[in-house]
Formats: sequence, C-alpha cells, structure tokens
Amino acid sequence: MRAHEAGALHAEGYGGPPIWLPYPGDVMELLPQLWPSTIGRDADGRLTVGGVDVVTLAREFGTPAYVLDEEDFRMRARAFRDGFAAPFEPVSGRADIYYAGKAFLCTAVARWVAEEGLCLDVCSGGELAVAQRAGFPAERIGLHGNNKSVAELEQAVSYGVGRIVVDSFEEIERLADVARRHGAVAPVMIRVTVGVEAHTHEFIATGHEDQKFGFSLQNGQAAQAARAVLRHSDALRLGGLHSHIGSQIFDTGGFELAARRLVQLHAAVCAEHGIAMEEIDLGGGFGIAYTSQHTPMAPGELGAQLADLVEREFTAIGDDPSSWPRVSVEPGRAIVGPSTVTLYEVGTIKEVDLGDGHARTYVSVDGGMSDNVRTALYEADYSCTLASRRSDAAPRLSRVVGKHCESGDIVVLDEYLPADLRPGDLIAVPGTGAYCRALSSQYNHTPRPPVIAVRDGSARVLVRRETVDDLLALDLG
Ligand SMILES: *Cc1c(COP(=O)(O)O)cnc(C)c1O
Repeated sequence: MRAHEAGALHAEGYGGPPIWLPYPGDVMELLPQLWPSTIGRDADGRLTVGGVDVVTLAREFGTPAYVLDEEDFRMRARAFRDGFAAPFEPVSGRADIYYAGKAFLCTAVARWVAEEGLCLDVCSGGELAVAQRAGFPAERIGLHGNNKSVAELEQAVSYGVGRIVVDSFEEIERLADVARRHGAVAPVMIRVTVGVEAHTHEFIATGHEDQKFGFSLQNGQAAQAARAVLRHSDALRLGGLHSHIGSQIFDTGGFELAARRLVQLHAAVCAEHGIAMEEIDLGGGFGIAYTSQHTPMAPGELGAQLADLVEREFTAIGDDPSSWPRVSVEPGRAIVGPSTVTLYEVGTIKEVDLGDGHARTYVSVDGGMSDNVRTALYEADYSCTLASRRSDAAPRLSRVVGKHCESGDIVVLDEYLPADLRPGDLIAVPGTGAYCRALSSQYNHTPRPPVIAVRDGSARVLVRRETVDDLLALDLG
C-alpha cells in the first residue's frame, strides 16, 4: 500500500479483527516478545520500563515520548555479538556485527554500540557526524549508500572509516580521486545485487534487478567493479563484497542464496586477480515481533544457521579454509526496534458507524504519522496497551490514530483496548525503536518527541523534545 491522500482509507473493512489477532483473555497482558526486557506493571497497573513507571515519565517529559530501555538495547547488541561469535569461530574466525545506524542513531546509542564491541554502519554524512561526535572508532565504521556525495566521501576518508561500500562505477572513480587528494588508501567493499529479494516469510530470486542499489551479478557488473577498484591500487584497497536483501525477514532461505552468490563471486574475483579479500557482508534485515503474528529467531539461533549455511557454501567451492573470508552482518531493527516504546496520551475517542450493525472505535492520540510513519507507509502492524492504570473493562477492538490531517494517519490498525479507555489515559506502543524517530517528520509543524533512556530506575533525555521555537528558527521570513 502506498501513502494516500485523504479519503475513506479502510472503509471497505467491516471493523472486524484481523485473523491473527485473538480476543484477549486479559486485555492488560503483556506479550514478552513484543516489549523491552525490563517491562512490567506496578501494583496500580502502571507500565514500568527500566524500573521507571510511565506515568512519572509522562509527567516529567510529556507525551508523546520514545522511551528507550538501555539495558534491553545493550542486551540485544551483546546477543548478536556473542550469538554470532561462537558459531562463526570455526568458519571464519570471527563475525563482525555492524549496527545499522539508520534504524536509530544518537551519540549515546553510538557509544553503547562501541562499548558493547559492535561496529557501526552509517549511510550519510549526518549519521557519520553523529558517530564522529560520539568518538566512535573510525576503523569500526562502514559507510554505504547509492549516491554518496564527494563531501561525504571526503568526510569518511579523512575520518579514516574502516570500509566504504561502493555502489557505482562513477563512485569508484570519485572515491579514488578523494583518496588520492587525502594521500590515503581507502578500504572498499563492493555492493553486490545478489538477485534475492526477501519479504518476511518468503524470498524471491530475481534474474535481473530493477532497483537502485549495487552492482548486478547477472551481467558481470560486480566482477567488472572489482576490476575497476583494483585498477586504482594506489588509492583503493579491495576488502570484500557486500549484500543486503531486504527487511523484516524471518527465515534464512534468502540469506542462503545470497551467501551462495557472494561466495562464488568471492572465489572468482580472488582467482582472477590472485588476491585475497578478507570479508563478505550479508547485510541486515532480521525481523522482530511487532505483534503476536511475528516469530523472530533469537540471535544465537540466527548466528548458528547463518554460520552453517556459509560453511556449506565455502565447502562447496572447495577453497582452502584458511582463505575463507570473515563474515559480517548489519542488524538495525533487531537491536533497537524492541528496545523502545512510544508513550501517547489518549484524546478523542469516537465510535464510527460502518453500517450493517458494524462500528469501529477510533482512539486518537497526541502524536501519529509524524513520530511513526510506518503504519501509513507500509500498512505495518503494531500493538499497544493501556499504560497508566489497571482496567477490568471488557476488551474493545480499537484503531489508534494520530492527530494529523490525513485519514491514513494511523498508529495501530487493530488492537483490543479496555472499553473504559478515556481521555487522559496513557497508551504505550512497543517495537518503535527502529525507523520511527529515524523517519519522523514535523508534519503539521508538530515538534518531534524526545528520546528518553531508562535504566535501573532512572531516566535521562538522550534527544530532547523539539519545540515550536526550534521549527520557527528555520523560518527566515
Ligand atoms: C537498512 C539496512 C540495514 C539494516 O536493516 P534492518 O532491517 O534494520 O536490520 C543493513 N544494511 C544495509 C545495507 C541497509 O540498507
């Protein structure tokens, strides 16, 4: 579904629940797989995260607010680090985990990533600037993107980032020029379009690729890109091959095909030029649970399956195991997504008659598509719960909508909330750590919410709330 103009978007529905959404036995229940690991309720039914109750958070910091559970984020970062290290040790010596900063990045999060021993993937000069401000070690940063500017390449080369993923023939020439000007040899990986497109449970193997990223395998472009990089041996060093097949993926079939194609290309390029390339990158895209319909793999299970399938591909090629490159992956959503909940205050509640005796309850909150555009953009499913008190009222199927001037401004398409929900209640939406603040806007001149980190019973602001003055400061009259 695409973003749409104002109109009767879901008017075709009769207001019934989707088949994956069961009528809840307890409307206050919290499914552990949806929430940060420190989630709970206190004696009055108030949600607590990181040892802080959300009523206190709302009073102190206002709503809407993104509440980020620091311990949960760190725990997921470590789960990837350790869950990949052990199974990959016998295959490729080690596995590097690049946190994909585009999912959400601020200086504190960059520091946590560094402290937990992960690397960092950025895809713009702005994201790189955050990493620089945080003092993130340059050699553990990768830069990718299909249209990096010369200024961005210069920023990366002068900071000394550990790898630049080149995406076009033009960029190879541009980067070689930049590196020469800086008297540097830039470490390069080649973004390969592996002909695999993965969406959640199924993947599609495509013969040719109609998309903007990378060098195609099909017509020999990727091998040609390797030749182009190697021609600039005074300015570029070819370190490996890179792929990324999609997002919110729940099984490893697509990665298996991608790994096969990368391993074959790796062997072909090394043989053609008599070189070694130390790394292949399988990208990110590991799925998380937004609702009860999603069943993600634990990082350790994912690491074991990927190590197993990569080993099979290396073995099939028949190369000496000592020449096998190390493997890296780039999880974004799977680390930061479940760490964060968005707190909203309930405003208007409306019962809308859908005809034929059907009705839909619209619960309006004080944010919306400006702080979470994923529902409007992708028809993404979310869940939510009453967060500020206990209720014994019957569950009522509800649609949570924002305050913006667009009928597609929906936060949670379908969820059971207590029938006694009223203005002033707080609701919490889990799984909003990835691609919510990162994709936020100031639509309707709405200042963007703060990001509040909670841990061990205390809260601190990582990114402050925007103000109308911030917005007006850009307006020069
Ligand atoms: C977006 C992206 C990622 C992260 O994707 P997630 O779905 O957040 O894991 C990793 N690598 C590249 C190249 C990307 O573009």
